[in-house]
Amino acid sequence: MTQSVNRQWRLAARPTGMVDDSHFNWVEEPVPTLKADGEVLVRVLYLSADPTQRGWISRDTYLPAVPIGDVVRSFAAGKVVESRNENFAPGDLVSGMFGWQDYAVVNGSVSGALNKIPKGVPIELSLSALGLTGLTAYFGLLDVGRPTEGETVVVSGAAGATGSAVGQIAKIKGCRVIGIAGGAEKCAWLTREAGFDATIDYKAEDVKARLRELCPKGIDIYFDNVGGDILDAALANLAFRGRVVICGAISGYNTNEPPPGPKNYLNLLVQRGRMEGFIILDYIPRAGAAIKELGAWVAAGKLKDQVDVQVGLENAPKTLRRLFMGENRGKQLLKIADP
Ligand code: NDP
Repeated sequence: MTQSVNRQWRLAARPTGMVDDSHFNWVEEPVPTLKADGEVLVRVLYLSADPTQRGWISRDTYLPAVPIGDVVRSFAAGKVVESRNENFAPGDLVSGMFGWQDYAVVNGSVSGALNKIPKGVPIELSLSALGLTGLTAYFGLLDVGRPTEGETVVVSGAAGATGSAVGQIAKIKGCRVIGIAGGAEKCAWLTREAGFDATIDYKAEDVKARLRELCPKGIDIYFDNVGGDILDAALANLAFRGRVVICGAISGYNTNEPPPGPKNYLNLLVQRGRMEGFIILDYIPRAGAAIKELGAWVAAGKLKDQVDVQVGLENAPKTLRRLFMGENRGKQLLKIADP
């Protein structure tokens, strides 16, 4: 069942601009063997491409930087092929931080290192709406943003994995939702398929002016995935007691300079607003109940999940780059082996 070679991408250099193939080395090693009780050998099947990986390979953030020469850190899903852990058996589908490689040895006794994918949940969905992506949208919007019915929610990166889930959950909660995304095709998908009330194409329109037009009473919740000028435009249009949820700032991930401070931050004072960041890893203890609710919304057709599956481990760097070029349509995955 197992092949003899473990193909890997290892970190060669820390990027200072746009990430590309030159920052990684392709290495082939023998498939690792289990050495201690508790360990599990996983055949990696799907890699999750996440903007935060650009930070992980550059510097210490909420996780330590990936050391030069190490396998590139990546969340992933796979199948157990060998186990010295009574909680995991060959054939089990699992998720964890397996990295850009064919095989990973994971200590299944470490809390959270290896999670079973519930039976009946498709792997792709387990990495998208029913995985960290769905949880990010769920807790970011509901716990940090705290929407109430009738409020106006604006989300950037709206056609992406997290943003599209945020907007749909906000609709479920009875909010009016405006999505900001790049390009007419993505904007059309948001109103046609995802049920958004309105969109702004930030590549073709004046975001600040359009926000003023679309939100005459101001923005109650701005869910920020991109930072930069769009964050500034949202701050300028904040409603009284408006909330700004800092989920990410992808517009600045491929530069080494810290972004300039938001010019309009004093509007938080004027409007008695709140701006708060969060990291999804802090919410893992509450993931079970949230996934149950997300699963019910998916089953009822209220939460549409769009996945974009590229193929082949050799394409890992290119697949990561798709996120920064806006090429992905929904959750970006890379399939590296058949289940
Ligand atoms: P997405 O599926 O949203 O993909 C990224 C999208 O970002 C692209 O499709 C592109 O869409 C947009 N984008 C890229 N460059 C720019 C730019 N310069 N300006 C504006 N938009 C840009 O990825 P995810 O859903 O995985 O992640 C979305 C955000 O959520 C990221 O900032 C990420 O870091 C953050 N995140 C935070 C977590 C947390 O715990 N706080 C957890 C998970 C994700 P377009 O074509 O519209 O430009």
